[in-house]
Amino acid sequence: MRKLRLILGDQLNSKHSWFAETDDNIIYCLFETRQETDYVTHHIQKVVGYFAAMRNFALELEKANHNVIYFNINDAQNTQSLVDNLTLLIRENAIDKFEYLSPDEYRLEAQLKNFSSDLSIETKVFSTEHFYTEREELGIFFKGKKQFLMEHFYRNMRKKHQILVIDNQPEGGKWNFDASNRKKWKGDALIPQEISFDINVTDIMDDIEKAGIKTIGNINLKYFEYPISRSQALIQLAYFCEHLLVHFGDYQDAMHTDKIYLFHSRISFAMNTKMVSPKEVIDTVLETYRTQEDAIDISQVEGFIRQILGWREYMRGMYWMLMPTYKKENFLENNNKLPDFFWTGKTKMNCLKNAINNSLDNGYAHHIQRLMITGNFALLTQVHPDEIDAWYLGIYVDAIEWVQLPNTRGMSQFADGGKIATKPYVSSGSYISKMSNYCDDCVYKKAQKFEKDACPFNTLYWNFLDEKQEKLSSNFRMKMMYSVLNKMTSEDRSKIKEKANHIIENLDEY
Ligand SMILES: Cc1cc2nc3c(=O)[nH]c(=O)nc-3n(C[C@H](O)[C@H](O)[C@H](O)COP(=O)(O)OP(=O)(O)OC[C@H]3O[C@@H](n4cnc5c(N)ncnc54)[C@H](O)[C@@H]3O)c2cc1C
Ligand code: SF4
Repeated sequence: MRKLRLILGDQLNSKHSWFAETDDNIIYCLFETRQETDYVTHHIQKVVGYFAAMRNFALELEKANHNVIYFNINDAQNTQSLVDNLTLLIRENAIDKFEYLSPDEYRLEAQLKNFSSDLSIETKVFSTEHFYTEREELGIFFKGKKQFLMEHFYRNMRKKHQILVIDNQPEGGKWNFDASNRKKWKGDALIPQEISFDINVTDIMDDIEKAGIKTIGNINLKYFEYPISRSQALIQLAYFCEHLLVHFGDYQDAMHTDKIYLFHSRISFAMNTKMVSPKEVIDTVLETYRTQEDAIDISQVEGFIRQILGWREYMRGMYWMLMPTYKKENFLENNNKLPDFFWTGKTKMNCLKNAINNSLDNGYAHHIQRLMITGNFALLTQVHPDEIDAWYLGIYVDAIEWVQLPNTRGMSQFADGGKIATKPYVSSGSYISKMSNYCDDCVYKKAQKFEKDACPFNTLYWNFLDEKQEKLSSNFRMKMMYSVLNKMTSEDRSKIKEKANHIIENLDEY
């Protein structure tokens, strides 16, 4: 029986059981397509990273004696559509059975399901063997519950997988060391030089230009920043464990003008393309901890493991539990446009300038920049969630809808009315000042609310609370903020409103 097996660009798991044996009757196929490069405008480093990692993966499979058909973006026979390419290969290679790995995105799942149901040959779907949880596991865990708290899911995962658990109790006495993950970085802990791989991607860039693919952001062609093979991903992981884990938790929420990555792992691209699995990452972190328990505090390790065992699996489970309607949610009825400076980085607000320029230059911003700078500002200016999703889905090298959408629409924009976050992640300039040095060199005054040079985050914050009072004031976690707002004089409130309207109507002046 001749089989065709599809491998999508984010399914580069060389440890998958598919590859344990070779079989002359199996053909593996990978395609670079316009379907995938054009469904949103991607960052150039994201397109380059995917093509480079896919090409490496195909070469590795060939070296291991598997049959591989690879369509380069400019190949003459490439139809640029996933299903048309599959149809072509099934016909040309007299295929009897089509097999694919379960896609992580809803749109691809729907497309492949439709395609398979129309085929006259047998089809079979396999697990990607990547995640800790099956797709529907979170839905079953929360069945009948009104709230879907990450913390409950995470504790269950810790017990189920016996990670940092002794006799079913948390190692170190606490399930969560979140409270000790909030230090501002002031140069005290030294940050080692970030790891680089000296990858030249000039050829891939030529292919992208020849194909005329529209992208955003910048790239250094002689020094590509992300791992594009499993061996590089493992080097990056080892580097994190050796040099960065020791302070990861402490400075997880810190931001600094001179340090883009601080103690973050930058492992998301390698994990999301499945070059390395979450279990491998967690096991390596735990091994490091076990050999250095005197040097590394459990709070650093728990803080990191929570992101992967907790947040990452939780977001995926929530995505599959709530799609497809989730993609349309707009609880706060926000309708404004995203300011142009999100695409150019040209703004006077120092925090946004840094976070957006990092994103444009590196296809990267760490979690708190995404949540408390760009996401916070978009929410405070009441931008339509569709516009925000398109930006986040395009700009980050690690952005794939299953993880981007619940983070953006849910956690960052509260567009789901509180399914993921228990309250909107909004803040005034004081939080930004507490966690970063951005305000030190900003033209705006972090202590002013509505004066001429007042920090726009302050004005917008109080205006947001005011405008969304009907929808948010019954939220228990918002009570304190509303009591402060309601004590303000009506004169101050109208000054805030006037100034906030000016900002929202003239965003590109700020
Ligand atoms: C608005 C918004 C959009 C986001 N979009 C994406 C996205 O498209 N793709 C993506 O992988 N992550 C996304 N995140 C989560 C997080 O910001 C990134 O995973 C992280 O910044 C990647 O950098 P890192 O590898 O250095 O992470 P580290 O800080 O070193 O964390 C380690 C790993 O934990 C996982 N992780 C941490 N936080 C989350 C989270 N909230 N959800 C899921 N996994 C998490 C990631 O796999 C990450 O690689 C988003 C967060 C926000 C607030
Ligand atoms: S003062 Fe306001 S706008 Fe300027 S960096 Fe601080 S928070 Fe951002």
